[in-house]
Amino acid sequence: MTTSKRDYYEVLGVARDATPEDLKKAFRKQALQYHPDRNKAADASDRFKEVNEAYQVLSDPQRKAQYDQFGHKGMNGQAGRGFDGFEGFGGFGDIFDSFFGGSSHQAANRGADLEFQINVSFRDAAFGVARELELNRMERCERCDGNKAEPGTDIIECSTCHGEGKVRRTQRTFFGQFQQVTACPTCQGEGQQVKTACKLCSGRGTERKSRKIEVKIPAGVEHGVKLLIHGEGESGGSGVQNGDLYVHIGVQRDKVFTRRGNDVMMTAEVNMAMAALGGIINVETLEGSIDIDVKPGTQSGAVTRIKSAGIPHMGTAGQRGDQLVELKVMTPSKLNDRQTELLQELAESFGLERVRETSGSDQGIFDRFKDAFRGEGSNS
Ligand SMILES: [Zn+2]
Ligand SMILES: [Zn+2]
Repeated sequence: MTTSKRDYYEVLGVARDATPEDLKKAFRKQALQYHPDRNKAADASDRFKEVNEAYQVLSDPQRKAQYDQFGHKGMNGQAGRGFDGFEGFGGFGDIFDSFFGGSSHQAANRGADLEFQINVSFRDAAFGVARELELNRMERCERCDGNKAEPGTDIIECSTCHGEGKVRRTQRTFFGQFQQVTACPTCQGEGQQVKTACKLCSGRGTERKSRKIEVKIPAGVEHGVKLLIHGEGESGGSGVQNGDLYVHIGVQRDKVFTRRGNDVMMTAEVNMAMAALGGIINVETLEGSIDIDVKPGTQSGAVTRIKSAGIPHMGTAGQRGDQLVELKVMTPSKLNDRQTELLQELAESFGLERVRETSGSDQGIFDRFKDAFRGEGSNS
């Protein structure tokens, strides 16, 4: 930090006559906003340091007076002293527990989330499918129903926290002195202790089980979508929320179709005679096949739209994309005698130069270029 340093009062967003209470409030607000565990912006870490530095100075009456009189010059670089990162603070939980009385520990008191990948075919993704997933997860113990005590034995109040589940201790931190409230180490915050641990789960309240659950994959789901299924993660035990289950969806490629938004695209071949004269071709759709018109004079690359034959919009019943059929006009690579004759006639009718005398030989090329080949073996 050099000459472009921002004013400390500006950093905290307070007036120059702010009371220590105002400063503290402003600092907490700013620190919360820029704490790198929370704010993923590139400059969050720098802003957080800046906020800390400002508060360090302004919360210390002596240094504040110095700063008020001389500005940043009066600090002689000492303001940033002792701040090299976040190691000293512990995680987000630590510092904000001190501020808010432990609310951020709640997240740790949930069962673990589980993640799975399910791969489905293109068509199953289009119309939705139910899949069975076999999970190996922690579940609430059936014997003790998660309360950890052997059935018929007593559960007593925790002697450490007297049933409160929390213990208070005073902690000196970088920010000053805080009353910290943490979960009771004896009962892990439950406020209770068992006299005899459940024999099945050894007093853990949970046991690992293999469980099959049905996952409904919605119609229209796209590759890479992550489905969230609440409460189907691991059990955290009695009185604790289950974790969640995340299912990542992989959609396989299809031989015929590709997807663009909710439309499906395909190509269909059209014989050049049909392209010129018009006709009907049969094309595949996501559900069976359908006849489509080929208009007379169709060019290669023309696109025919089949309304509402595409992919259902995910979560919007009754709405579907379209199917787009790109027509590819095919020139025959093999002709029988009759076809050759007809095409030659056709070519003549278009006034095109006759390129072959007879089919099946290279004779024609001599006709075409006979001037060039004069005297070099032409038999005309
Ligand atoms: Zn048990
Ligand atoms: Zn306790």
